[in-house]
Amino acid sequence: MASSPNFVSSGSISVRLTEFCGPDPVELEMRGSWNVKDADGSILLAGSNFRGWLTPDPTGVLLGARLLGNKTCTLSTDGDAGIRLRDKTYRGELQIKTTRGASGLPHDLDIVLQLPLEDYVLGVLCGEMPSSTPGAEEALRAQAVVARTWALWKTNLSGKPLRDTPADQKFVGVDFETQAAQRAVTATEGLILAHAGELIPAFFHADCGGETANSAAVGFTKRQWAPLSGVKDANCISPFKWSRTIPASTLDSFARTHGLGNWISRLQASARDSGGRWLKIELTGPSARGPFFGEDLRTGFAVPSALWQKLTVLADGSLVIAGTGNGHGVGLCQKGALNAAQKGHDYREILKHYYPESLISTLYINS
Ligand SMILES: [Zn+2]
Repeated sequence: MASSPNFVSSGSISVRLTEFCGPDPVELEMRGSWNVKDADGSILLAGSNFRGWLTPDPTGVLLGARLLGNKTCTLSTDGDAGIRLRDKTYRGELQIKTTRGASGLPHDLDIVLQLPLEDYVLGVLCGEMPSSTPGAEEALRAQAVVARTWALWKTNLSGKPLRDTPADQKFVGVDFETQAAQRAVTATEGLILAHAGELIPAFFHADCGGETANSAAVGFTKRQWAPLSGVKDANCISPFKWSRTIPASTLDSFARTHGLGNWISRLQASARDSGGRWLKIELTGPSARGPFFGEDLRTGFAVPSALWQKLTVLADGSLVIAGTGNGHGVGLCQKGALNAAQKGHDYREILKHYYPESLISTLYINS
């Protein structure tokens, strides 16, 4: 198992702290002894107990009044969780640089946290799941394995830092950590999900509405993955029901953005799955028509899911969509996993259900 290159990790993860990236200065605190190294590893600055501002500047990043230059610098402290940005505390070290703005000059701060994989998984668990729910322990363990697997799969695929938002996985700092989440991470340390010798893209979502989706059919993966082919979810009791009004202006803007013309004249499901999820949708406008994934419209119209049950066009051209479920529907369903845990299923059974034919394997850390 350890010989498979897909199961080898450096044991650390890079995550872009998106809320602090941009043109504005960011308040920084470093507790204990700290230093700043340049890209070659030479120490540029060192001290103890810094409190001040990181400021983007056309000539590079300023730490307080000191210019760090315009290459990537690494800030580290000797204490645990020694870095605080504005009101958030983090473990790990910060890689800081400036990126170019519209003028072409260095303009924006770019802040990437590098931290141990298991600390990252803990931050995702606390960002993605309520960890204080009674009976949630096994669901938390399942989510920890999923978060670890997805992070490594995505990092291997893109070679870039993950974002700390749900666009990748929501990651939060030390202030939000709970003991329940910590126990789940420790109990599953180094465990990942694999299929046929590869890490699987372990997608997850909030509420499948009764049946999970096939990752290829919703356009998430180019190939079919047996563990992501979709399963019935009897544990999804009373799925989330919702109704949203999509203003005519949103529909018109979607049509224009996608070259259909100034409005949508017809919207029709061309493929649905057995759970009723809209997989493919044919849109017609005055200039063109075209196929879209249900997922494109879920995100384009900002509705909770593509499990649409009733559509009503109003006199003003807006569209009312009523549906069920929450999220893209691929992989682990958090609502169903929580119910399964409360019924006494352990995390291995939960993972087996949502990712059939997958194997729980151990990661080899090559540090
Ligand atoms: Zn479900």
